[in-house]
Amino acid sequence: MTAEGGTANTPVRRTTSLLINVSTLLQEPIGSLRRFDVDGARGSGINGAVNGSLRLLRTDQSILATAELSSSVTDLCGGCLEEIELDLELSFDEEFWPSMDFITGTVIEPPPERAGFAVIDGQIDLSEAVRQYVEMGRPMSPRCGSDCPGLDTSTSTEPLVDARWAALSALKIDPEGD
Ligand SMILES: [Zn+2]
Repeated sequence: MTAEGGTANTPVRRTTSLLINVSTLLQEPIGSLRRFDVDGARGSGINGAVNGSLRLLRTDQSILATAELSSSVTDLCGGCLEEIELDLELSFDEEFWPSMDFITGTVIEPPPERAGFAVIDGQIDLSEAVRQYVEMGRPMSPRCGSDCPGLDTSTSTEPLVDARWAALSALKIDPEGD
């Protein structure tokens, strides 16, 4: 994209918020950029602080947000059920659509294949996008570490699952059988 030629010259602004005003950017030519250093931002539904870099590009009708962020989330270790904190890398591109073209006043309907988030009152709120990527980035069965002690079974008797496996292994399946 030739419009990105000026990337290196775009000053990097610091933001401690995931709510960013884009009303001026929306009135600038296609290809206009904003670059941000996201520093300890918090958002609703997001457990940890969000850090990293964010680039906002004015497209034909929208704002394309390119994020390289990191955050953390608390979860339970699948082995010992202790609460653990997981660091997550969040890289995404998401488009934010104003309801109306700032200059011409025409209503903007995002094409379905480019649906994304809304620009509300001239602002984009990255919280919901970050929250969604945090959920997607969560490991299915997190572990506290390679030395996870596992569940303390000293007080319990036979775990239920053993009985089920025993029943399964009792089934004899003959692959050649007919
Ligand atoms: Zn564990």
